[in-house]
Amino acid sequence: MKYDLHVHTHYSACSILRPRTILKVAKKAKLDGLAVVDHNSVRGGLEVKKENKDKSLEIVPSTEISTDRGHVVGLYVTKDIKSREFFNVTEEIKNQGGIVILAHPFRMIPYLRSKVKGIDIRKYLDAVECYNARTSYFGNRGAGKLAEEFNLAKTGGSDAHFSFEVGRSYTLFDGDLRKAIQKKETRAAGSNVTGLAGSTFSFFKKHLLRWW
Ligand SMILES: [Zn+2]
Ligand SMILES: [Zn+2]
Repeated sequence: MKYDLHVHTHYSACSILRPRTILKVAKKAKLDGLAVVDHNSVRGGLEVKKENKDKSLEIVPSTEISTDRGHVVGLYVTKDIKSREFFNVTEEIKNQGGIVILAHPFRMIPYLRSKVKGIDIRKYLDAVECYNARTSYFGNRGAGKLAEEFNLAKTGGSDAHFSFEVGRSYTLFDGDLRKAIQKKETRAAGSNVTGLAGSTFSFFKKHLLRWW
């Protein structure tokens, strides 16, 4: 199975992706599933899931929360997460039966990095995002080492905010996603060649084209 576990929609201020566009490009990218994560919102995930009529494509409603210790992705989350405090966010996700992923822990931009040094993260997380298409080679390598140090599952996602980014990075596994993550039998892979262009477009979308 090939799932892109990190796709944004227009409900994130830095993205223009519409649910229908996501479904179209997911097919082209030969994905078996994808997690729709919007910043601090579940709206996009619920909308894409509703829009999807293709039974061979699983839509995992999800969200990406900006916590005081960096970004945390919750998979299988259908209600908005209230807290922005790292430990409470992981608890809220688990209370909904969700899966907790530490997103891009070593991004170049300081406020997007995780601040988890000295914390036994295996108590709070299920996985670490070890391939993020908007993160450098070294950033992804560092994430892989972190996952190994704490014996956590590895996931991959494009962090797509535009259609050309969908499916650039992904998670590979056999069978069921939830079980594969629990058994730590997932692999992260992909390419980050479109990452810089995507991040630049996001900056313009968020700061200069707010009305769009
Ligand atoms: Zn993020
Ligand atoms: Zn993201």
